Amino acid sequence: MYNEFNAFVREQFKTPEAFIPLHEPRFFGKEREYVMDAIDSTFVSSVGEYVNRFEEMMAEIAGTKYAVATVNGTSALHIAMILAGVQSGDEVITQPVSFVATCNAITYCNATPHFVDVDLETLGMSPRALEARLNEIAELREGVCINKETGNKISCIVPMHTFGFPCRIDEIVNIATKWNIPVVEDAAESLGSSFKDQHTGSFGLLGTFSFNGNKTVTCGGGGAIVTDNEELAKRAKYITTTAKRPHKWEYYHTETGYNYRMPNLNAAMACAQLEMLPTFLENKRELAIRYQNFFSELSAIEFLTESETSLSNYWLMAVQLKDRASRDQFLEKTNSESIMTRPIWELMNELEMFNNAPCGAIQNSRFLVDRVVNIPSSVRIK
Ligand SMILES: *Cc1c(COP(=O)(O)O)cnc(C)c1O
Repeated sequence: MYNEFNAFVREQFKTPEAFIPLHEPRFFGKEREYVMDAIDSTFVSSVGEYVNRFEEMMAEIAGTKYAVATVNGTSALHIAMILAGVQSGDEVITQPVSFVATCNAITYCNATPHFVDVDLETLGMSPRALEARLNEIAELREGVCINKETGNKISCIVPMHTFGFPCRIDEIVNIATKWNIPVVEDAAESLGSSFKDQHTGSFGLLGTFSFNGNKTVTCGGGGAIVTDNEELAKRAKYITTTAKRPHKWEYYHTETGYNYRMPNLNAAMACAQLEMLPTFLENKRELAIRYQNFFSELSAIEFLTESETSLSNYWLMAVQLKDRASRDQFLEKTNSESIMTRPIWELMNELEMFNNAPCGAIQNSRFLVDRVVNIPSSVRIK
């Protein structure tokens, strides 16, 4: 089976020998043209036409009124949580299945992650687990959600759309509303993914995206915050640009802001990449279908697919093995042949920084961490 799989992957990527990575960027749009144009304009830093254009394109794609560019996805999350009202000493509910950036951003707010389980079908936050956990440990005191066990305020819920598969975000938002908790969607991995025909990132009070080198669309490094709330959008722009009061020559700052703005040079590349998004999505979907056909012959390995009510961008494609031993064998037999595969992240609650954080029952997360492996998912060059 492994030989067949390795040969199949090599055929898809037309790479008979060399190393095949999990996800590499592709630049066959107007990247060079726009980046050169930004250089020629001398506007390479945090002000420039491409930044504005990027924000317009992102709002259009996400279906939100506003988008604010940031220097990366982690800073987008950090700012979004501040804007959602996360303060020092608070708890932020998130999932143990995520890239570390989600929890790092919570820590930057001096808050603590509080873990609830994911769904086996979506790999994202489980509305049932969320609801059960809130019923178990939380109470509303004068409209504020408090963890009865720790006495801390629960000030935000941050679900994540794992590998581009949308989680059941509508139910999560409904539960959050009942408990008067704002939702920040970590949509870093789900640019181009939608749930019930609505783009991921646009369900919560705020949503965030990443344009890191390994994401579906990249500009080297970059991020975006999206929202329908005008005041929050304005504040996002303000505090990511050092909270400087607008003035022709004066340098007056009204609070401790951040230097989190995306440079125009990166925005130029981002605009060109966003133009390619439909092409990338089509190309990746075609590969997902081929993988699905390939694995449909094998009972021991399941290719993970989008749920019925959602469209995935198939950022990182994934298979689920029978148990940890077969997972390890799969990793060994592919990586030893220079076909890169990688297990899903170690659970966040297992990391030293977060292993004392509050945590609900997380049996699905534990099940997945033993079995899920990502396989090569780049856009293929035709
Ligand atoms: C990539 C990613 C981020 C943000 O990453 P940056 O490298 O800072 O752009 C945040 N959350 C998740 C789940 C991610 O995969």
